[in-house]
Amino acid sequence: MAAIHAAQAGVRVALFEKNSFCGKKINITGKGRCNITNTRPWTEFAPHVHPVSAFLRSAFYHFSNEALLEMLHRIGLETVVERGERVYPRSMQARDVSKALTAHALALGVEILYDCEVLRVEPAPDALCCTLALSQPLLRTETVRAEAVIVATGGLSYPSTGSTGRGYEIARDFGHSIVETFPSLTALMPEHYDRDLIGIELKNVALQLFIDRDPVQLEEGEMAFTDGGIEGALGFRISRKAVAALRRKQRVEVVLDLKPGLSMPQLEARLDRELAALHATREELGATKLKALLQTLMPGRLIAPFLHANPDLNGRNLARRLKEWRWRIVGHTGYERAVVTAGGVSQKELIAKAMRSRLNDRLYFAGEVIDLDGDTGGYNLQIAFSTGALAGASAAQQILKQRAGKPA
Ligand SMILES: Cc1cc2nc3c(=O)[nH]c(=O)nc-3n(C[C@H](O)[C@H](O)[C@H](O)COP(=O)(O)OP(=O)(O)OC[C@H]3O[C@@H](n4cnc5c(N)ncnc54)[C@H](O)[C@@H]3O)c2cc1C
Repeated sequence: MAAIHAAQAGVRVALFEKNSFCGKKINITGKGRCNITNTRPWTEFAPHVHPVSAFLRSAFYHFSNEALLEMLHRIGLETVVERGERVYPRSMQARDVSKALTAHALALGVEILYDCEVLRVEPAPDALCCTLALSQPLLRTETVRAEAVIVATGGLSYPSTGSTGRGYEIARDFGHSIVETFPSLTALMPEHYDRDLIGIELKNVALQLFIDRDPVQLEEGEMAFTDGGIEGALGFRISRKAVAALRRKQRVEVVLDLKPGLSMPQLEARLDRELAALHATREELGATKLKALLQTLMPGRLIAPFLHANPDLNGRNLARRLKEWRWRIVGHTGYERAVVTAGGVSQKELIAKAMRSRLNDRLYFAGEVIDLDGDTGGYNLQIAFSTGALAGASAAQQILKQRAGKPA
């Protein structure tokens, strides 16, 4: 997106990509369907942006979700809006998004060099100097001078897609500070995790996060148990704060409410009705009737782990246990499977209206390499697209201004 917007503004653009094609990460987004963006207006979009959304505001208004969709439609990519204002390509093929963007960049004259890793970027008189490692057709290094460089190397998540953190080194070489990075939108591992839970998905449940015994976040929706622990939409949403707290060595707990739609008295009343139907009472609830009762309250596969976690379960404490299934969280999945990297190039050292470095006016940053990340729901790609578009347009504008100011 940065290359597209710089080329549109009338400068010559080269895009250095270390993979043999563009958009390797895009291709695996949204479970291969690519949740391109979210149609919410800024006021509703901003709360999903971390750590501080104000930094993104100018970029969002420069190239908003609406502008993105208008552009995608113009270049032939049809989209559909699903639940939660999430936008997907109509084809439901993430590859179509990366293909469309790559084709558009090429059509605008962007020169794309594949299998080309940027090793270093250094200041040079009236320019920046990039040292490149090219692996095709022969392994060699080359140096390229550029009037401006936009670093859009991503974070550290899913390094197999190419994002291995080189952008942080480039930023550091210019004196930039990197806000400590950590995996976000990642699975949380409960203590004594019952592996029978793996594969179970729950809908219409609530998950509350406690840090040092204080409630800090409550989310409702869908969650999943995987080999990594608690994830799915709810797990991911609470993971940012949970991982940050684990790194600070704080006590992290989550409480699952299997019946968030019912208050305690309403749930007690529902249990009374179910018990009556089973000809049972709270006092006389044998193992068979208890299991039959649980069948009416949760997915069948969840019953065994629920009973395992509550060995003293009875008719009196059942409602409370259904609303308060508590786990201590002792770990989380790392970058290899985290959707996004929190932390990165400090917002304070970037000019938000241009995505330009305050330390070198030829250096720009865009996307996940910046200390900027979003919740699941299309926010992260929109962050990358908005900051990319702004970085591209500002870099081009600055170059053209500098050229105009120079004697011929
Ligand atoms: C499994 C998964 C699913 C996701 N699903 C969604 C989703 O549905 N919706 C959403 O909004 N977000 C989603 N995200 C997050 C989103 O994909 C990222 O936030 C976004 O791609 C970041 O864009 P970026 O351009 O900053 O970095 P990246 O997409 O990581 O791109 C960085 C590029 O730079 C290249 N590169 C890195 N270093 C160098 C170097 N030194 N030289 C040359 N090239 C280099 C890499 O090869 C890569 O192609 C998902 C992420 C993952 C991992």
